[in-house]
Amino acid sequence: MHNETLRPESTPDELVNFRPLVQPVQRGSAKGALVDKHGRRITYVRLSITDRCDFRCTYCMAEEMTFLPRNAVMSLEECLRVARVFVGLGVNKLRITGGEPLVRKDALWLIERLGALPGLNNLVVTTNGSQLDRFARPLFAAGVKRINISLDTLRPERFRQITRIGDVHKVLNGIAAARTAGFRRTKLNVVMMRGTNDDEFIDLVQFALDNELDISFIEEMPLGDIHGRSQSYISADETRDRLAERFELLPSTEDSGGPARYWRIPGSTTRIGFISPHSHNFCDNCNRVRITARGELYPCLGQNDAVSLMEVLRSGADDDALRQAIVGGMGIKPLGHDFTQQMEAPQVVRFMSMTGG
Ligand code: SAM
Repeated sequence: MHNETLRPESTPDELVNFRPLVQPVQRGSAKGALVDKHGRRITYVRLSITDRCDFRCTYCMAEEMTFLPRNAVMSLEECLRVARVFVGLGVNKLRITGGEPLVRKDALWLIERLGALPGLNNLVVTTNGSQLDRFARPLFAAGVKRINISLDTLRPERFRQITRIGDVHKVLNGIAAARTAGFRRTKLNVVMMRGTNDDEFIDLVQFALDNELDISFIEEMPLGDIHGRSQSYISADETRDRLAERFELLPSTEDSGGPARYWRIPGSTTRIGFISPHSHNFCDNCNRVRITARGELYPCLGQNDAVSLMEVLRSGADDDALRQAIVGGMGIKPLGHDFTQQMEAPQVVRFMSMTGG
């Protein structure tokens, strides 16, 4: 794996003159702010708590994956500490992801504590839904505000092909369990793949309408050592045009704090989102960073630069050192990514399951 990981003690040239616009909080004070060198305020962290998954989606992972050894993965206590320090720096939205976060042993232990963190007002989870029939209730009780569930097809055979091992019925049960548990505005995430699921977009929207779900269509990104993605790429505009042949779509200014742009269908509560990292790059307003299960801070999904928080965590250093490493990471957040040139040959060879979606 190719990672240009920065060691916290080494200051790269581009960081020499970098000063966060607002200094991080002093120990014990309530609020801070993270601002990158392009002036973007970072308020949203995606935290991957495992690289393991019970599915092997073809666009996300290799068929044969070598997972991280257990001691290379942040402990749940380390995850909690990292989250707490980010919240002290003004982060108010945290997405728990993976891999599949709900296959991590004792994930609930962490999620319950995150749910009680003062200042964190938007705790959300992205899951493949396979474990939700067991976990939906305790997640709701823990204070999780919203769940995103990946669902690229409703057809059992196709589902198995895309996930290589998954059972769509388990996911459909999980979606129902989320509703019964009290979750509203649950969102389906659909990766658009020409020749694989593009004949089902209308059915998927209808499913969302029937079940009072939101739904987002995602342009496939060239992450991980998978070649030839330009064959399957579909732009958000093309999908929207196709959906508009069946549904009346009204543009909406709603913002869920993430990268999706939304449309509404009159008479329904369903929001139809489009996440278009290729065709309508949203980097100008990026408010996010990602933490991998092995404690790397990636300021941009589409780049290889990262800061190792794990080294700080395991060095015995205090929270000030951790804050310093995080603030340093803001200095390497690039202006943006460019996926479009990379569909045949990805420059980011870590799989999405490594970085966390
Ligand atoms: N296991 C959980 C799940 O399935 O949602 C969380 C992790 S998964 C990596 C998070 C999201 O990333 C999913 O919605 C998945 O569809 C999306 N994803 C994975 N690889 C992708 C790619 N190459 N392009 C676009 N989205 C991708």
